Amino acid sequence: MTLTEKIMARASGKKSVQPGDNVWVNVDVLMTHDVCGPGTIGVFKREFGANAKVWDREKIVIIPDHYIFTADSKSNRNVDILRDFVREQGLKYFYDVIDDPDGHWAFDASKGQLKRQFGSNFAGVCHTALPAKGHTRPGEILLGTDSHTCMAGAFGEFATGIGNTDAGFVFGTGKLLLKVPETMRFWLEGKLQKGVMAKDVILDCIGDIGFDGATYRAMQFQGPGAKALNMDDRMTIANMAIEAGGKNGIFEPDEKTFAYVDVRTKANGTKTKYEPLFCDADDQQRFFYDKKFDLSKLEPTVACHPNPGNRKLAKEMSTVQLDRAYIGSCTGGKTSDFLAFAEVIKGHKVKIDTFGVPATPDVVRELQAMKMNTKTVWQVLEEAGVQMTENASCAACLGGPTDTFGRLNKPMKCISATNRNFPGRMGHLESQVFLASPYTVAASALTGHITDPRELLS
Ligand code: SF4
Repeated sequence: MTLTEKIMARASGKKSVQPGDNVWVNVDVLMTHDVCGPGTIGVFKREFGANAKVWDREKIVIIPDHYIFTADSKSNRNVDILRDFVREQGLKYFYDVIDDPDGHWAFDASKGQLKRQFGSNFAGVCHTALPAKGHTRPGEILLGTDSHTCMAGAFGEFATGIGNTDAGFVFGTGKLLLKVPETMRFWLEGKLQKGVMAKDVILDCIGDIGFDGATYRAMQFQGPGAKALNMDDRMTIANMAIEAGGKNGIFEPDEKTFAYVDVRTKANGTKTKYEPLFCDADDQQRFFYDKKFDLSKLEPTVACHPNPGNRKLAKEMSTVQLDRAYIGSCTGGKTSDFLAFAEVIKGHKVKIDTFGVPATPDVVRELQAMKMNTKTVWQVLEEAGVQMTENASCAACLGGPTDTFGRLNKPMKCISATNRNFPGRMGHLESQVFLASPYTVAASALTGHITDPRELLS
């Protein structure tokens, strides 16, 4: 069996499964956020009763992160709905925007977008917060009401996005009927050259198969190139499995995975025990597709408007003039992403409006503490003209209300370290978004046109 099949077999109490089987899996973690949480709660109460209790108050993780730093009152209200439900159910893991469990969230626009407006428990973007807070463990089943839940596959678990109706059912039962996907294997070998990042790897893979090339299939990343990647890089890659239509993305867990998970589960008091599963030998795994990718041959890559599979090389795109650059999101807002971005930016001035949105408050803290020579990384970015906000969230990654930080409110061309560029994704329907690595976004911010970062890094 492939790794996804092995995890699904164990979670459904079977010795083996094969693609196409429909199995009832026991869910280890169910995550929801401010956009889908209220709808999920509504489904749960409608189907299980107004006074029903969730199946396990320690297996639900609620992370407001999407439409948070906006004066839109309905969006603010969504966070209050989550808080009311958490209190009613006694849920253990709720990363609220405010500290008062009986309070109400209201973003204060008069304070501006840049300075922190969240309390001590806020965790930022759900997919980055889940591993950081110790909710991702090898061998488990993690479901979330968000398509990029597949990011947790970086930790050797089956992780996928589900709708509110399914999530409402999981709230009540802890189970879900899932069809076992076929597996596509991406065998990674070779070493990335200078200026090329994990983002380029996944943009290349998606470009190879198209934005629907893995529809309802597992994308299994294996090989020495996969093993050599750190956990942040694996997260970047697994996160974008859905951009090829993948049901999930998955890496085999190893000592790097265990070290990452063990530190964070202990630090956050979450469940520390888990039973990892590993890939079977090749003759025991059946793949729908199996292809080698030589990472040493990869070059900085861009997914052009209007979809993540529209692959081009950055060096071929220099005639595309840009209006905006954006770094942030679960895919591209980690500390390591900002460090790569700063490596290119430092000592220069950006030529176009450039927005930086850390994925989590921890990323903010790290960037404000880490030094590049005598200055903090945060200072380096601000002095280069990057508009950095402390309000870690999804922000303009998916547009949001019109006062959302960095939102494309008119037709414009934006290069972005985010993960999705379908029309209207970051705001205006006629804007164009070009997806790229933090290196490429930084180089393009400095020149005002799409730029191969190797020109500046060398
Ligand atoms: S940062 Fe973007 S992709 Fe990630 S969860 Fe938020 S909206 Fe979705």
